[in-house]
Amino acid sequence: GNEITADMVDELSRKHFPACMRNLHDSLRRDRHLKHFGRLQYGLFLKVLGLSIDEAILFWRRSFSNIQDDKFNKEYRYNIRHSYGLEGKRANYPARSCQQILMSDQPGASDSHGCPYRHFAPDNLQSALLSMYSSQGLTSADLAEVMNTVKAGHYHVACTRVFEITHASQGVKKGEGVGGGESVTHPNQYAARSRELER
Ligand code: SF4
Repeated sequence: GNEITADMVDELSRKHFPACMRNLHDSLRRDRHLKHFGRLQYGLFLKVLGLSIDEAILFWRRSFSNIQDDKFNKEYRYNIRHSYGLEGKRANYPARSCQQILMSDQPGASDSHGCPYRHFAPDNLQSALLSMYSSQGLTSADLAEVMNTVKAGHYHVACTRVFEITHASQGVKKGEGVGGGESVTHPNQYAARSRELER
């Protein structure tokens, strides 16, 4: 199996997550909460990454650390189980692709979901990228190229370029993308390829 545990998520987020999921994770840690669409986008990503239902309940329970059990059980447990197909119509919901994240449920000012390349103001995006990825080799000199791509509206290309830069020490070269020249189309594809390169 490809299972991950609640305890592993902090480290995985630092090493392997694309900006959208890293932003959700950091917001969750900072606020001890995520709003509905953030929980949905992040929860389904973690499910596909290999977090079982039991580990997901544990992860969210611990993350929402300033609410009582009673409130957690009433307001959140059902929705987590629902996203695993264990409640309601028992559908096996897939994680959202970049296209879906870019086009649907536009985030408001207090939301953390969406795609930072598209939804952050340019200044915020640059400082967020440096804070997320400078430990993996992204420098301010790389930002001009990334921001030009963003300005042209090629958000997934910008994300792919950041993937290449932050995996250069593992041998990834410009133009190779997430493998074979492919660009990022899904946050889980980004994370899976990043974990593969570590092995
Ligand atoms: Fe996430 Fe896709 Fe945006 Fe990258 S391009 S940050 S994977 S939504």
